[in-house]
Amino acid sequence: MDSYTVLFLIFFTLAGIALYFVYLHEKGDRLKEINEGICPKCKNKTIEIVDQRSHGCSGTKEVTIECTNCGYKDSFTISGGGCGSGKCGI
Ligand SMILES: [Zn+2]
Repeated sequence: MDSYTVLFLIFFTLAGIALYFVYLHEKGDRLKEINEGICPKCKNKTIEIVDQRSHGCSGTKEVTIECTNCGYKDSFTISGGGCGSGKCGI
């Protein structure tokens, strides 16, 4: 292996890690906005919950939201909620 290959590998590993953190960060920001009722696309407070289902005792909920202004639609899972701290888990 020459040094270019090594540099190449290091570069892609770092780029991958950076992308992962950017992705996590964006996802978190989006969730925060949605929690406040703000559409991530058009930035209006026009988010409505159109579907909500919980997965039993695991405490996770799947929520589908829709923007009444621009039609943006997304679904995400929220952990926690329902049945307290670890009483029904493993
Ligand atoms: Zn919108």
